[in-house]
Amino acid sequence: MASLCLFSFVVCVLTEPGYVPSPYVPDVEGAAVPLHQEPHNKSSQLRQCDKCCTYKPPRAHHCRICRRCVLRMDHHCLWINNCVGYWNYKAFVILVLYATIASIYSSVMIISCAFQKNWNFSGRVPMKIFFAVSGAMMVGLSITFGALLGFHIYLISCNMTTIENYEGIRAAWLARKSGHSYRHPFNLSVYKNITSVLGPNILKWLCPTALSHLKDGMSYPTAHDS
Ligand SMILES: [Zn+2]
Ligand SMILES: [Zn+2]
Repeated sequence: MASLCLFSFVVCVLTEPGYVPSPYVPDVEGAAVPLHQEPHNKSSQLRQCDKCCTYKPPRAHHCRICRRCVLRMDHHCLWINNCVGYWNYKAFVILVLYATIASIYSSVMIISCAFQKNWNFSGRVPMKIFFAVSGAMMVGLSITFGALLGFHIYLISCNMTTIENYEGIRAAWLARKSGHSYRHPFNLSVYKNITSVLGPNILKWLCPTALSHLKDGMSYPTAHDS
């Protein structure tokens, strides 16, 4: 489990999150179809980044730390010193999943060891402190990773990013104030939302490098500019 954690971590760190290519120009003709389908969809309107001075595709956001626009940006993660975006979101979620399982497993191991009946701790104070500190640390870590995993499972099931979740809370509040209801524009169905992140093949869901489904979804026009 530790090796799987380390492998997912390395994939997260080394995978480019999906920087928007600098000559990106939106396909206005192509954009007419989703605009027709979703007339009030703010995210399908043309957006520009003031800092990069280029067009921003839907769901892309500017990262102040990376100083680039990132496709389907979730957040900038200090622990992996990288943005979590289109290409490494799956690896990030799988990393959190493995880390949660590993922490819970370690917590159970430490606690069950400490409460073993035939284990005599008398006269071994440093050992007691070691078990108490490690146990507390692992339980804390399990709760933290578990909460993060739960939050991201919720986000995946709604096809949302962390940024869109916070934007959605505000949009829902504004919609409620004006007597409307708010619906996240990228929410397809729970199954489609899950497969859009983890891939259509359930056997490859836990592999952080199985990203072929993302290559099929890449339709950002860059080649036709010339
Ligand atoms: Zn930008
Ligand atoms: Zn970043």
